[in-house]
Formats: sequence, structure tokens, C-alpha cells
Amino acid sequence: MSNLHDHYHLLIRGGTVIDGTKAPRFNADVGIVDGFIAAVGDLSFATADQTLDATDRMVAPGFIDSHTHDDQAVLSQAAMPFKISQGVTTVVTGNCGVSAAPLRADMDLPMPLNLIDAPAEGRFTTFAAYLDALRATPSSVNVAAMVGHSTLRGLIMSELDRPANPTEIAAMRMHVEEAMAAGAIGMSTGTFYAAAAEATTDEIIEVGRPLTARGALYVTHMRDEADKILEAMEESFAIGRALEVPVVLSHHKAMHAPNFGQTKITLPLIEKTMKHQCVSLDCYPYTAGSTMIRADGGMLGGRVLIASSEPHPECAGRDLAEIAKEWSVSKEEAALTLQPGTAIYFMMDEDDVQRVLAFDETMIGSDGIPLGDKPHPRLWGTFPRVLGHYSRDIGLFPLETAVWKMTGLTARNFGLHGRGTLQVGQHADIVIFDAATIRDAANYATPTEPAEGIDTVIVNGTVTWQHGMHSGARSGQVITRQDKVAA
Ligand SMILES: [Zn+2]
Repeated sequence: MSNLHDHYHLLIRGGTVIDGTKAPRFNADVGIVDGFIAAVGDLSFATADQTLDATDRMVAPGFIDSHTHDDQAVLSQAAMPFKISQGVTTVVTGNCGVSAAPLRADMDLPMPLNLIDAPAEGRFTTFAAYLDALRATPSSVNVAAMVGHSTLRGLIMSELDRPANPTEIAAMRMHVEEAMAAGAIGMSTGTFYAAAAEATTDEIIEVGRPLTARGALYVTHMRDEADKILEAMEESFAIGRALEVPVVLSHHKAMHAPNFGQTKITLPLIEKTMKHQCVSLDCYPYTAGSTMIRADGGMLGGRVLIASSEPHPECAGRDLAEIAKEWSVSKEEAALTLQPGTAIYFMMDEDDVQRVLAFDETMIGSDGIPLGDKPHPRLWGTFPRVLGHYSRDIGLFPLETAVWKMTGLTARNFGLHGRGTLQVGQHADIVIFDAATIRDAANYATPTEPAEGIDTVIVNGTVTWQHGMHSGARSGQVITRQDKVAA
């Protein structure tokens, strides 16, 4: 607690602070100067340019979405209403092996590189150019960006259905070095997808060499989240050990009915591994996943909802089984006809989802895909769903823990210095919400409904969302990797 100033640019009065460290809540005012938190405590005698009344409200650090595909959206949909409206002030981009840079104007974007909707015009040929564009035309949220291994494969390799040769590996490694020098916080892989499925463990290690010197992250959508999940986890840990960098297992889950309950084995394995290497994980609070429309690998075993389809936009929001019946074709054939597009797959068990969410070290990441009119509701609802449904209604963990999983824990794991906790000296990324009413309003039928119970969202000291309205502010910053030595 400190009270060095008696005048603030912004003063939040009368709220209950949940500071993002998992510490118990406490009553305090929060004073902001020049985009930073200047004081937390009794500021009843202070004055301010702008005062917000937070009586009966929680005041927490802005939420950090550890897993997004917002790479292009932070430029093309810079207001980011689907994230700001749920209290998210920072997004981590470049997940699942896919990033907006580096690309070439003339290159194809095979699945899943089209996840991020990069336009043919004005593509970024270097990572530095991407980050410069974000600085020149800021988003409403802060961005911490990673470079994607599948994107590099698409850039460098003439065909993707084989391992990279030494020349290609060297070329990809140069791009990783460029991305690291520009400020990327890590590299991601998505060996689950055809674009990188043939990449060997050695290819990933050799391409990822520049991560080591900077202590940057290795973040992975693993090769397998179903029958071979344990082997896939061991591979991910081995890559982390070879590069001596932290590993993040993305959207941890056990896919398909025969594997339900597998998280009883995977979580203890993570816990055991954490004792001798740096490992973390994230998860989204739903039993359905979403990715590009696929017709393989048992993806069509459960219920499938079409989220978007380029050739058949009229099918968005419809059940694949129904479409197949109407067309008198198999689900596989219907899926192939609907490509390219995105779909929602009901493929997880609620017990596994709750077990992963409740695991102490699990961060919250939406994995939202900002494409089309009928996206997976996680794009608009992830964070309020954890706070409302899972913390308050089901009692899976205390509110302080829920907030920590989306703020302090994430900032620590991703090395986002100066973010994630509500303390003096930190960037003033703040969300004010009503713990009694916060809830996700987005569901599979109406997936773009803004959350309820979010009062005010502040990004770097600027009010960006208030009472259901975007202020138009674009005060997001680019968060770059700080060198291991300096950190
Ligand atoms: Zn993924």
C-alpha cells in the first residue's frame, strides 16, 4: 500500500481488489498515473481527472488470454470487442504453429495456416514488420506474439508432407532468430495438423534453437490429444529439455470417448515433470473444441456444428449430420464439400474439463477463432464462464484462484513483465466486474453475445469498455520478450 500521489489520472474508488496473486481479496482504492498503477489503498482524500465508483464490485488485473488466434484480428478487428467485452486486456498470439508472420504474398495458406485469415495483400514478410504494424495501428488489447512453426514450413518448404531437410531447417531457424530479435515471446508448433505432422522431433528442436539464448517459450498443440497423448506429452517435454526452455501444453484435453478419464494420468505426469523442468498448460472451459473443418482422424465421431464455410456460408450454425442427410451424402463427404471452413466438435468429457481447469497450474486460454458469424462461444465467453459458471456456481475453485489462472499465473509463465497483478508499478490493465452476476451469455446458438457482469475494462490506464460499450480506445501495446539475462 502506498499513497505517494494525491492526484491521479484515473481513480477507482470503493472496490474489492483481487490482485491476481491468489491472495485473499481486500478493500482498496486504486490510483492510476500515466498508464501505471500508482497507488493501492485508502485514497479517499485524493483527487482525480476521472473517477470510477467500484462499490460492490471486484477490481482485478485485466485478463490475459494465453491461447488465441487473434494474430490478424488485432489489426483487422482492432477494437477486439469479443475479448475486451469479457475483460481480456492482453492476448497471446501465434498459437498451434500458426502466426501472421512471416508470410509471402504469393504463398498458399494450407490448413491450418488459414486459421488467422491473413489477407493476400499486405502480408508481413518479417516478424519485425508485423510488430511494427501493431505499434503503428494499435489494437484495443496488448499483444504478446509467437512465431509459428507450421507457418515457417509453409514459407520455406515446397511440400509439407515430409520432414524438412537440413537446408530448410537452417532457413526456418533464421526466421525464428529474426522473430526472437524482433520481440517474439516464443515459438509454437501444431504437429496435430497435416502441415506439420511429418515434422520430426529433431526438426522442431533444430528450428527452435534460437529460443534457448532468450529463454523464450516452446508452446505446442501436440501431435496427439487422443490415444497417443502420453507419447505426445513426452515428445513436448523432450523438446523443452533439449532447448532448455519452458514448455506450454496448449488447450490440454483428452479427445474422443475411449480416452475420457485420461486426464487422471496426464495431470500427474505434468505434475511429476514440473519437478525437474519448466512446464505449464492452459485450457478452455467447454467440452467442445473448434478448428478447421476436417473429415479425418475420428473428428466426425461426435456431434459436429459448422461454424463457417467458404463455399456454403448458409450452413454456418448447422449440424453436420443434418446437412449430410439433406444432401444424401456421408458426413465425410459433406465435410469435404464444406471445406474450407471451421467447425465445432463435441469431443470431450465434462469431468476431464473440470479436472484440467481445477489443476492448480492450469491457465485459462480461449482458443477462440475470430472468423464468421457462428464461432465457438469460447471466443466471447471463456473468462466470464470460468468466473461465473465454474468458480461461483459450481464452486470448482475460489474466485481468487480463478482470477490468478487468467492473470498472475499467465504473466509469470509467459514472462509478461509488469502485467498480471494489481500492484503499484504495474501497467494499469484492470477489469471491474460484479462477482454476483458475471456470466457468459454466449452459447452455441447465440455465440456472439457479450458477457454479463463486466463493468469496466481499462487497458494501459485508458477506459476501453464500460457498461456494455466500447470507448473506441486503442491503447494496446506490443509486449516483447525480455532477455533471460535482463529478466
Ligand atoms: Zn490448437
